[in-house]
This record gives sequence, structure tokens and C-alpha cells, in this order.
Amino acid sequence: MALSGLEIFKKLPKTNCKECNFPTCLAFAMQVAAGKVEIGQCPHVSEEIKAELSESAAPPIRGVTIGAGDGALKIGEETVLFRHDRRFEHQPGFALLMTDEMGEDEVNKKIAQFNSTRFERVGVIMKAELIAIKSISGDLAKFESLINKVKGQTRGWLVLMSDSVEVLKGAVAVCKEQKPLLYAATMANAEQMAQLAKENGCPLAVAANGLDELAALTAKLTGAGVKDLVIDSGARTMKKCLEDHIIMRRLALKKTFRPLGFPTITFPCEMTEDTMEEAMIASMLVAKYAGIIVLSDLDPARLYPLLTLRMNIYTDPQRPMMMEEKIYEINSPDQNSPVLITTNFSLTYFIVSGEIEASKTPTWLCVMNTEGLSVLTAWSAGKFVADAIAPFIKKCGIAEKVNHRNLVIPGYVAQISGELEDELGGDWKVTVGVREASDLPVFLQKFKKG
Ligand code: SF4
Repeated sequence: MALSGLEIFKKLPKTNCKECNFPTCLAFAMQVAAGKVEIGQCPHVSEEIKAELSESAAPPIRGVTIGAGDGALKIGEETVLFRHDRRFEHQPGFALLMTDEMGEDEVNKKIAQFNSTRFERVGVIMKAELIAIKSISGDLAKFESLINKVKGQTRGWLVLMSDSVEVLKGAVAVCKEQKPLLYAATMANAEQMAQLAKENGCPLAVAANGLDELAALTAKLTGAGVKDLVIDSGARTMKKCLEDHIIMRRLALKKTFRPLGFPTITFPCEMTEDTMEEAMIASMLVAKYAGIIVLSDLDPARLYPLLTLRMNIYTDPQRPMMMEEKIYEINSPDQNSPVLITTNFSLTYFIVSGEIEASKTPTWLCVMNTEGLSVLTAWSAGKFVADAIAPFIKKCGIAEKVNHRNLVIPGYVAQISGELEDELGGDWKVTVGVREASDLPVFLQKFKKG
């Protein structure tokens, strides 16, 4: 059970020496309890107490990494039941299922689909991250050949699936540097799978028939020293899968029940033959509470809504998505091109820049840091007002890039135009632009003609 701030405080030296960068031991303890700082930041805590507190402060759902290097996929570490309570930490990975019984054409098609199905939204690339490769034939040579092909032609992280420990042992040998997820340890093979995962430093999936068996298995595996587990309760209907996920999440979070405190792997591809229904089940699992979602295909019409849903649910509600504050050059502007200003809320930027791009008018777009707030919200919060915009325009360097002094502001803040002209001083002239970005192409054409 996680310790409270006061319980942690009792274990600290209580000297208020400030070496942890907090004014008092109590303030530090409160931050440790909230999971915002590590106990090791206090240099005066003994190793014994550090170990005790680290264990109690560990996330109720363990974080597990699949893959290696910077782009590796991390899942788990969730701390809340509902996103609005705080935030969800790591979005679930989408995996494409391939088997060693697929013909060459089908394999090539799947690989091409995996590589090409990606979308950009508010500057973020959305795509599936994993390929689940399943041995049905039990033939190691066939399995290895498929793994090598996938490894050579995609950048997906791997889930290796087989009922045979021997086949998995051979398969992991050809890709262990990628730290694939091994599927799966069961009651029948737990010791051998634990050994295989430990030898290769790979995360291990655990498949059981129900939650009781699953908890017993994870306890056995963690006891054997395998900590990076991804769990599968065995549910293969939508109702049972939802029920299991809610029970597992509640037990892990509310009761700190460690045996079920792991991210999950789910198989909508095994729950229905209907691809639309499969997408619907996957959407449920994005919200509640899958770690990996294995799909039978990545048809863009079904994957795009799933990726968008995932992005919406897994963005931090307390941190708007933001663009860097700077001058953006759109359509190769020159010194005569118009200068527009907007806020650094990502969605605002992408809508505005998209319309400018579509207009084909060379334009300078000054994006000002308003802490990710949109135009009207930033204005009402006092962050997109004349005495904030004027210093930004003066220091951002736009005056050196153009030979005119015309600044176009969004139509929604027309009321600040006079004050902004006064604040800017010199020859600056402020023009009130359009309210809706969709009107920008026509506005820019007229503006160009003067
Ligand atoms: S460094 Fe340790 S002892 Fe010093 S104030 Fe921080 S918590 Fe207290």
C-alpha cells in the first residue's frame, strides 16, 4: 500500500536542511507521496528506508518496455481509473497480427499496410507500433523466416507468439536485440518461459484462464525474478474482457494488489470475425484499459478513428498540446509577404497554417507562447493582449525579415488592435484578420492585392 505524505515524513531526518531543494522535510515528503520526486533526492535517507519507500511509491501498475532504444514502446505505470482524475500515462500499443501460415502475398500486403498506415495530427505521427508474429505451424524455420522478413522490412516492435517454448527459444535468438515480448508463460510452462525471458532480458506475456490463475502465475514468475510482465486474463469476449480489465485496474489501484498490477495484452482479432466489430472492441479497450491491442489488419478507415481516440484519451488534460514559439515560414515568404500572428495552441497552429498553405500565399506566421491556450482563451487569460504581443513582435526578429510594418491579428481579438498599434509604436500598422481560419485564403488574396 502506498504511504501517505505524513508516513513518509516520519521516516525522514526532519532537519529541514533543504539539500533536496525543498524548504522542509514535510514539503519533500508530500511531493514523494504524490509521485512527483524520487526519495533518493534526499541524500540523508538510509538505503534501507530508500528501498522500503521505493517499493511503496512504485506505480500500482508496473511499467514495461517492449523494444530497445529511444523509440521503444512503454506501457503501464497507470495511476488512475479515470483520465480526468489526473491523466493516463502511456497509450496502448496497436499490434498487427501475422502468422507463419500466411502466404507470401498476404505477408507482403500486411508489411506494406503496416509501413504505410500512418497519419499526422497536430504535428504528431500516429501509427501502429507492434507486429505480433504467431507460429501456428510449430515449424521453427518458417517462424524464423517470417521474423527475419518483418525485422528487415519494418520498424515495428515484435511480439513473438507460440505454444512451444522450443520454438520461442529459437525465434528469440534471431531478434533478441529488439527485446521482443514473448507470448506466453502459462501454468504448463512457467519455469521454462521465466528462464527464457531472464536469459534474453525480454518482457514476458502471461496467459491464464481467468484472474485467479493469472494472479497465481504472476506471483510465481515475479518470485522467480521476472518482473516485466504483460498479462492476458484469457477473456475472448467483449463483455468478459471489459469486466476483467475493470477488475484488474481496480484491484491494482484501489487495493494495491501487485499480482494483477501489470499492463495487459488483448486480442480483439480473436473475439470476432467482423472487422467493424473488431474495431469497436478495440475502441473499448483503448478507453478501458488495454496495454497492447492486437488487430487482424490495419485498414486505414478503421485504424484512423482508433488512433485519434487513443490520442485524445492519452493526452494530458492539464497540458495543452503546444507549438514552439517562433516565426514559421509558409510557402517561402519574402520581405513583402504578409505577417500574421496567432497563439501556440497546436490545433490553432495546424488549422491556421493548413489554410495558409492551401492559399499558396507566401506568409510569415508568428506563433506566440500563450502556454498552449487558443486565441480567445489566451486573450481572456491576459496572455494574448497588446502589452504581451508587442514585446514578442519586437524581440522575435520579424522586423528584420520584412520591409513593411503590417501585422495581421486574429479577428477574434479585434478589440486590441488600437492598443497594440500604440504598444508597437514606430510605423507598425495592425490589421484585423478573419475570425475563422477557413476564410484565410480569400483574406490573404485580397490582402496581397492591397
Ligand atoms: S534533504 Fe532530506 S533532510 Fe534535508 S530537507 Fe530535504 S528531506 Fe529533509
